[in-house]
Amino acid sequence: MIKKGISASKGYAIGHVFIKADNEVKIVEKKISDIESEKARLQGAVEKAREQLTKIKEKAEKDLGADKAAVFESHMMFLDDPDFIGSAENIISDEMINAEKALENVMKNYVAIFEGIEDEYVKERIADVKDVGNRVLQNLAGNDMTSLADVDNNTVVVAHDLTPSDTAQLDKNRVIGFLTNIGGRTSHSAIMARTLEIPAVVGLQDIVESVKNGDTIVVDGAEGIAIINPDEATLKEYEAKKAEYEKKQEKLRELINVETRTKEGKRVEVCGNIGKAKDVEAVLQNGGDGVGLFRTEFLYMDRDQMPTEDEQFEAYKAVVEKMGEKPVVIRTLDIGGDKKLPYLPLPEEMNPFLGYRAIRLCLGRKDIFKIQLRALLRASVYGNLKIMFPMISSLEEFLSAKEVLKECMGELDKEGKKYNAKLETGIMVEIPAAAVNSEELAKYVDFFSIGTNDLIQYTLAADRMNEKVSYLYNPMHPAVLKLIKMTIQSAHKEGKWCGMCGEMAGDEKAIPTLVEYGLDEFSMSASSILTAKELIMKA
Ligand code: PEP
Ligand code: MG
Repeated sequence: MIKKGISASKGYAIGHVFIKADNEVKIVEKKISDIESEKARLQGAVEKAREQLTKIKEKAEKDLGADKAAVFESHMMFLDDPDFIGSAENIISDEMINAEKALENVMKNYVAIFEGIEDEYVKERIADVKDVGNRVLQNLAGNDMTSLADVDNNTVVVAHDLTPSDTAQLDKNRVIGFLTNIGGRTSHSAIMARTLEIPAVVGLQDIVESVKNGDTIVVDGAEGIAIINPDEATLKEYEAKKAEYEKKQEKLRELINVETRTKEGKRVEVCGNIGKAKDVEAVLQNGGDGVGLFRTEFLYMDRDQMPTEDEQFEAYKAVVEKMGEKPVVIRTLDIGGDKKLPYLPLPEEMNPFLGYRAIRLCLGRKDIFKIQLRALLRASVYGNLKIMFPMISSLEEFLSAKEVLKECMGELDKEGKKYNAKLETGIMVEIPAAAVNSEELAKYVDFFSIGTNDLIQYTLAADRMNEKVSYLYNPMHPAVLKLIKMTIQSAHKEGKWCGMCGEMAGDEKAIPTLVEYGLDEFSMSASSILTAKELIMKA
């Protein structure tokens, strides 16, 4: 059976299906008659959770160190807490309802109590309660809770959607591709697939419902299709396509050390986008001229508390040091929208992409913002670090962000800590207002980087994550092109450089136009760098 979706990351994979269970289990209240057997069912799920957590903890200790593994210890403590599982048992006996509903009630009580306590540590425990409770609920539902980091070799992950923290767990040595029901080309799962260089198709609508665990599946990332249990002939055809693709990729490697110049002789930088410090390896291996976007929010995800200033400093330092003299544009925290932090509870919003996110949140939470800015400043002496602020809609926001940066510089001066006082600061142009107003902004910034993923969705009012409106999400729409051209011209008029770090920078159809407009820097997933280089040199 062939399923058609949206191509998210090129390449071919032939592997076995692993269905990732939904993060949330739907719970319906049911009356029960046999109290003892319901309690035993709950105990069975708890026991299973204990075994799973012991394994995960052992693995985390080995891979990530004892401090990172400690979170699983606290999850296990909840399983032993009489007020947690014990209370659920009491509800089963008293109200004669099913274990799922009883446990859900206990979880809700815990969350309500924790939310009412003004203490950061206690608030952070909300994520633990939800996580461990959800694990037991999944076990009750009989869902496979194998962690994504634990799957077998040659696995193709099939999921309704993958959250950024799910993708952060993917091990490229075992997961060779993924397929999701929802999402578009610029949803974060798709971007992550390109960063990891694994083929992926998103927006397949009902792929989860169409496969079973262990099915053989072909992922055709170029065409955006998945073939379930293909026949021999199809398998052969795809093995050949895969080999040919790999050969072509190999040939492109000749361009790694070649300087990128357009036909007219203009030197253009082709850089990589990264989400974690270790992603710089792929940028260098693909001949990247620098890092054009470091999405720092990934340092904040997949953990149970904020990264400290020192932890962040180490990560930024590692990246700039590895890149040597090459530029590294580090974007300040862009949380909100589809990127949530388990330990930073924010109210649900009607329109998260238009809501309290990125620079808006950072200017509102200077305590969080300053920790990051201090870490960035301290790391700036180790290489060519530039700071970029996301989601800027007005000059005032940029100036306020600079004000906070100045405050941090003052603090570091007092503490005798070094930083590069001349480091460049720029903004992402991803809100149409910033593009329209780029002439004014260009006077103040050191550079622009056009964030087309958001710029397109805001300009065309077409959600980047929604496959139903993906036909409207068109990088080549004349309105989008006008905004891009205008932004590049504004930067040049003030003698500033203009880059692009949205996915459009690596879009083969868009590259000739972007070269024509005079874009100075193209930043993209590492896996697209060499193809882009080849195209830019031809344009
Ligand atoms: C963008 O919006 O184009 C961008 C690069 O940022 P993100 O995809 O992280 O929103
Ligand atoms: Mg963006």
